[in-house]
Amino acid sequence: MTNEEVIDRFRKTGALLEGHFQLSSGLHSTVYLQCAIALQSTRDAIQFGAAIADRLRDREIETVASPAIGGLVIGYEVARQLGARFIWTERENGTMTLRRGFTLRAAERLLVVEDVITTGGSTRDTIDALRAGGGEVIAAASIIDRSGDKADVGVPRFSLATLEVAAVSADECDACQRGEPIAKPGSRKSYSSV
Ligand SMILES: [Zn+2]
Repeated sequence: MTNEEVIDRFRKTGALLEGHFQLSSGLHSTVYLQCAIALQSTRDAIQFGAAIADRLRDREIETVASPAIGGLVIGYEVARQLGARFIWTERENGTMTLRRGFTLRAAERLLVVEDVITTGGSTRDTIDALRAGGGEVIAAASIIDRSGDKADVGVPRFSLATLEVAAVSADECDACQRGEPIAKPGSRKSYSSV
């Protein structure tokens, strides 16, 4: 899948909205992304999963690990297509950890998969948790890279599509200057008005 094909699927399903948005961080952006909307389509999830898995078939990935909740659907699909095991990490008192009885073998070959990378923080935290468990992280992947390819997670990383979308404070927001109404798509109340 090309960058454009991925973005096109996101636009068509309403997973990528263009306008004037307040993100959950409070910052304003001209693009709102909600991967869960795109991944409602199992057919699209299979295609995104194949596009990620195809790039790693010769890397002998034993296990795919994803940060919950965002990474679960795509991570599971990539693991299924690689014939790999699938596990996830989750935050416990703010620290990303392996729970639920998941354990790793020494030097187990791991791939970290997320839906979207913004700063790389949750992928880095997942890598730390996996290393603490004894695993070897070979690579990281995501469907979308919102960092404009800037996020550094300390292992080779790729995304199916890259978006360079500035998130700015209200003071610096051009759309605010023009007086355009703002949508908060994460909140139930305003989603229907977007
Ligand atoms: Zn604004």
